[in-house]
Amino acid sequence: MSDYLDQDIKFLPGVGPQRAELLKKELEIFTFNDLLYYFPYKYIDRTKFYKVSEVTNNMPYIQLKGVIIRFETTGEGVRQRLIAHFRDDSGVMELLWFQGVKWVKENIRPNVPYILFGKPSIFNGKINMVHPELEPVENKPISTGIFQAFYNTTENMKKKFMTSKALNKFQFSLSAQIEGKIFETLSQSLISRLKLMSLPVALRQVHFPENPNLLKSALFRLKFEELFFIQLKILSLKHKREDAFKGFVFSKVGYNLNTFFSSYLPFELTNAQKKVIKEIRKDMGSGKQMNRLLQGDVGSGKTLVALMTALIAFDNGYQVCLMAPTEILAIQHYNSIRKMTDGLGISIALLTGSTKKAKRIIIHEQLENGSLQLLVGTHALIEDKVILQKLGLVIIDEQHRFGVAQRAKLWKKNEFTPPHILVMTATPIPRTLAMTVYGDLDVSVIDELPPGRKPIQTMHYFENRRKQVYDFMRDQVEVGRQVYVVYPLIKESEKLDLKNVENGYDLLKQVFPRYSISMVHGKLKPAEKEAEMNLFKEGKTQIMVATTVIEVGVDVPNASVMIIESAERFGLSQLHQLRGRVGRGAEQSFCLLMSSYKISNESRKRLETMVRTNDGFEIAEVDLKLRGPGDMEGTQQSGIGFTLKIANLGRDGEILQHARNQATDILDDDPKLQKPENLVLVNQLLKMKNTEFNWSSIS
Ligand code: ADP
Ligand code: MG
Repeated sequence: MSDYLDQDIKFLPGVGPQRAELLKKELEIFTFNDLLYYFPYKYIDRTKFYKVSEVTNNMPYIQLKGVIIRFETTGEGVRQRLIAHFRDDSGVMELLWFQGVKWVKENIRPNVPYILFGKPSIFNGKINMVHPELEPVENKPISTGIFQAFYNTTENMKKKFMTSKALNKFQFSLSAQIEGKIFETLSQSLISRLKLMSLPVALRQVHFPENPNLLKSALFRLKFEELFFIQLKILSLKHKREDAFKGFVFSKVGYNLNTFFSSYLPFELTNAQKKVIKEIRKDMGSGKQMNRLLQGDVGSGKTLVALMTALIAFDNGYQVCLMAPTEILAIQHYNSIRKMTDGLGISIALLTGSTKKAKRIIIHEQLENGSLQLLVGTHALIEDKVILQKLGLVIIDEQHRFGVAQRAKLWKKNEFTPPHILVMTATPIPRTLAMTVYGDLDVSVIDELPPGRKPIQTMHYFENRRKQVYDFMRDQVEVGRQVYVVYPLIKESEKLDLKNVENGYDLLKQVFPRYSISMVHGKLKPAEKEAEMNLFKEGKTQIMVATTVIEVGVDVPNASVMIIESAERFGLSQLHQLRGRVGRGAEQSFCLLMSSYKISNESRKRLETMVRTNDGFEIAEVDLKLRGPGDMEGTQQSGIGFTLKIANLGRDGEILQHARNQATDILDDDPKLQKPENLVLVNQLLKMKNTEFNWSSIS
């Protein structure tokens, strides 16, 4: 973009220093360019006028033409309320103000034609409009076509009359200033191939659309561009990385994998597991360094894939690290891998925060002299002190719990050749998000559960049916099953959190005096946690009361009932994770979601989704639509800030795929972007600052 657009926003005619301060502080609009890229959040058709007689309470924002025939004030002080009677040739409607009464009375005149704009609602059984906008008919807002653009503003701005309408005026002023000063950012070949609107036209149309078709083309062009450059950046970094680093070649399939496969594999692999193992083997044998994300729903059998991948590394003489996000999970992996490989003679150690110093020293030694083959642990194994003689593979379980920085640190454990990396996640990430957050990784998906699993039945109960829930628990325990009861984490107060669980525990003790109950929460020491978990695992306790510490990975096949208390407080992916703790054995499993009566629409939608489907990917898509990408689990810690200005990962999946395909084609044709026609793209990439996207730790 030219320097002209980098001018301070205070120089824009109509803005000035004071408003500029507000724009900077409230919206981070510092320059002309920032304003130009501050896009409307909606458009309203302003050619259509409704009649008072047509208005119903479920209409969106609408406009009417008419006059105010009289004002009426009721109440005193803060309870003061202003009612205006608005009339057109079809009838009369009330307008209501609870605030700014004085201003309205001084500025809005009766018996003058106004355009009334607002959202109808019902108050005291009558249709009305609360805090509508009123504009004298001769003073319409700026709009070149039938649509009026609306911009988000803040409370602080509104206090200073910096409304959407004011921004609309600034945009108009800006559009006059920048005639002929905006330059194309995409290559001519892309533009003609995809028949894209040019950038100057798109930027004008997005703020002042002339008709629906032009607006559509403008939005497409701008969204495409935004997503395209992100993909081009991710993919070109990936190319660079692949050029810069060769990977260890694991060409052998030897004793470990063969013996395990023929003598120790406890069951037949699912087709999906086979497919994924093939993909992994191909990567690790290719001479390139593997960077692969393995997605598979809870219970799809990722651990086995991880183990077999590790066996290939051992066969080629390399060491392996397996990192889990919690101590419980690390211990569980350690135990189950030891059990499955018992007899193969693999040396395995467990390293966590609570490993004793003496033991630690031995482990460090054995890693350095190469006698230890597999190290299972928590992030304790990232520490610089942990040095391996021949690290060939790092497996990270439940990737979303780790940041990109932690991933990068494992990368750097080797001085010359980075280890192969396999990251696993059971939090299915919608494809659009994966392409962006993990866009530099190759993705494998296990899309099939081991045979014989019955889909978990999920039900939603309100508090008043608690007794039925207890009866159900009793029935299940009587036939030999075990039950989880999970309480939400209360962010504001760990104390409250604990109290919640402890109260739940006491209550269940009273309801089920004959049963043994375990309790696990964040305040327990790791050893205590493990002891409680083990009691449950071994079937010595029938009920496990817990906070979300049991969310990831824990595997107790005999547990067939998951009860989630205050389920409305959980996010969708968390609910799905928790539900995944059951349904691991052959028995029919159940998930009971308990909630209070009063829940928000969004919570209701989450619970409905849980009841409707067991498909983690479908759930992830709904989650993305409900919450937006910034709040999705996995994005906060991924190190990538979401500052998309116009595209929306929840809605613009197709455009994203399109953008990624185009970026892939261009890089296939010109891997280093050296062709003259791509110069314009390179220039644009250089302008993408790290403030927009944190790329550093991915590369
Ligand atoms: P996740 O993908 O959630 O990590 P796990 O690896 O813990 O799943 O596997 C869940 C359960 O399924 C484990 O008890 C595991 O032994 C079992 N399992 C894994 N693969 C198969 C298979 N191919 N056939 C039958 N059971 C399997
Ligand atoms: Mg797992």
